[in-house]
Amino acid sequence: MIIEEIVQICNPILNRPSKFVVSVNSVETKRVIKNLADSVRHHGLIGMAASQIGEKLRIFVTEVRKTKYRNLKTDKLRVYINPEIVWSSKKEVVIYEGCGSVAYAKLFAPVRRPEKITIEALDENGNIFRLSADGMLARVIQHEFDHLNGIEFTEKITDMRKIMSSEEYRKRMVIKKP
Ligand SMILES: [Zn+2]
Repeated sequence: MIIEEIVQICNPILNRPSKFVVSVNSVETKRVIKNLADSVRHHGLIGMAASQIGEKLRIFVTEVRKTKYRNLKTDKLRVYINPEIVWSSKKEVVIYEGCGSVAYAKLFAPVRRPEKITIEALDENGNIFRLSADGMLARVIQHEFDHLNGIEFTEKITDMRKIMSSEEYRKRMVIKKP
């Protein structure tokens, strides 16, 4: 298992668009996918893009697991290679986001994005798939997709006065057990 350190905000690698994957079956691509899957779990995140582990490839993973912060609808580990968002709902919602690449700043902030999306991508076996998502899965897909284009969520914060430290976020957002 290889756990990668997460590249942090303003490192140039996060600010540039990533390259299309030419060969899904190459040793290189398989290594990046494995490292992403291991790293997303190790760091307790629900999504991670290749640029965040220093790889400039259009690959990200999502795995919406139960966390202590929210009652999330869980979803299996998914791999997205050369993804395209082919449809977005007109309806937008504001949800608090954080990011492994602003981990040391420990910020959570409100971001407005479409509520639902449909994405097309190749999976880890090179098969094309189409996925419609809502809720937290739609949110994390859009956040990770932005990483492939060099966009960090801090560029999209809707209200600077509502940025929270992770401590404050935890206090306010943790769902208290009955
Ligand atoms: Zn992120």
